[in-house]
Amino acid sequence: MPELPEVENVGRALLESLQGRRLTGLEVMFPGVLGQSPRVTRRALLGARLTDLHRRGKYLILHFRRPDGTPAYLMVHLRMTGQIFILDGYIPDKHVHVVLDFEGVPVHYRDIRKFGRLTLVEDGREPAAMAHVGPDMLTVKPREWLERMARRRAPIKGYLLDQGIASGLGNIYADESLFLAGVHPLTRPCDLDETTLRLVLRRAKQVLRLAIRHGGTTFMNFTNFRGKPGNFRRKLRVYGRAGQPCRDCDTTLKKITVAGRGTVFCPECQRVPAG
Ligand SMILES: [Zn+2]
Repeated sequence: MPELPEVENVGRALLESLQGRRLTGLEVMFPGVLGQSPRVTRRALLGARLTDLHRRGKYLILHFRRPDGTPAYLMVHLRMTGQIFILDGYIPDKHVHVVLDFEGVPVHYRDIRKFGRLTLVEDGREPAAMAHVGPDMLTVKPREWLERMARRRAPIKGYLLDQGIASGLGNIYADESLFLAGVHPLTRPCDLDETTLRLVLRRAKQVLRLAIRHGGTTFMNFTNFRGKPGNFRRKLRVYGRAGQPCRDCDTTLKKITVAGRGTVFCPECQRVPAG
């Protein structure tokens, strides 16, 4: 599943390749990935120029300006297996559901499980469709995040995945953040002092920034917009490494289930705090 760094990279690529270009074609093979009908989507966007882009968590909002000067916004949520390709000579397969044409530059939306959505929204930053999405994990202020986390009484890993608290972390970077902070995934935030909680946030931001620089992590079907794998996987400390030795202390990494998700941690480096 693409997480914040992968989505950030998609957003940067879209802006770099398409900013200032007009949407001149919208081909729809499977309307189910659109939030509105193809007709409504075309009417809103055809002829409009891509001016900007906003990302919060794993959501992108493309900002358009129509010929009459009014704005239009398209929210992109890749969900499980959504991918965007901006490639010369890309040959679409049966999983490509939408092709957006920007004055001769085609953008392919591919989604094997079809859970992703391209939805027209009424606002470029705070649309109603994102009311349930918390602040972005990369830019959330520590004070705000602490208010949302402190005193919570279930395992911290679940709260890191909760997009309503802060948006952007998925299973990969949640496990990595907890390892780097030395916090056991079953720890309850109410049992952590403020310093340790702040450390978890700092480590989460660090691992996200590092992953963005490395083009994200390649897993399952995810490759980046150029069809290349991200190369962050070899930097991962715990995710996908259950049964292998911890890179810091050689202890065998363990896998448990937390909040319904497979969770890998080091029993030595990530201790449950006393009490
Ligand atoms: Zn260790």
